[in-house]
Amino acid sequence: MSLLFPRAEAPSVDIRGMGQLPIHRIFCVGRNYAEHAAEMGGEVDREAPFYFLKSAHSAITREGPIPYPPGTQDLHHEVELVAALGESAEIIAYGVGLDMTRRDLQARAKEKRRPWDLGKDFEGSAILGTMRPARDISIETARIALTVNRALRQEGRISDMVWSLPEIVADLSKFYTLQPGDLIMTGTPAGVGAVVPGDRLDATIDDLPSLRCVIEEPA
Ligand code: MN
Repeated sequence: MSLLFPRAEAPSVDIRGMGQLPIHRIFCVGRNYAEHAAEMGGEVDREAPFYFLKSAHSAITREGPIPYPPGTQDLHHEVELVAALGESAEIIAYGVGLDMTRRDLQARAKEKRRPWDLGKDFEGSAILGTMRPARDISIETARIALTVNRALRQEGRISDMVWSLPEIVADLSKFYTLQPGDLIMTGTPAGVGAVVPGDRLDATIDDLPSLRCVIEEPA
């Protein structure tokens, strides 16, 4: 049977030296650094991690300007370690990512006990850098940081994560059949804040390709 429209393919992300990984789903971990949980007025739930998802189509994997999204006056940056899964839920690559957030819409959703989708899942909300094969690096003690216009905004250590990647993968596996191409955005350290058109973001994690982008005027 013919399709009514050409199928919109989800983006793929480059794993250096391995090839292009087609993105399947993007799982995001909430409140995975204690200091960030505190700055958001919450606390870490030590019983179990919690999640929200972004559509694979929300990902931007190309270099270049990022349009300021519609419907918000308060777009925030969240720098995060991203893990990519291959067969059998194995972590095959790591990368740097930005979980862009319409904080005003997320805050309204929290207040009304509604889902976070409008705040978290929109076009361009998952900005992903080139990844590196996991076998080439040990990520556990790496420094994670973000500068805006060269001023340091966020900084932490991967070892500060409340839930480690093996724990997150094990927990997600209780609820989902994890697939090759699933990505996990592992939460952000303290220091989240607003960006405006013209801002330049530089996101880094030791031993991973850094991610840089410039926020543009609304499309
Ligand atoms: Mn996040």
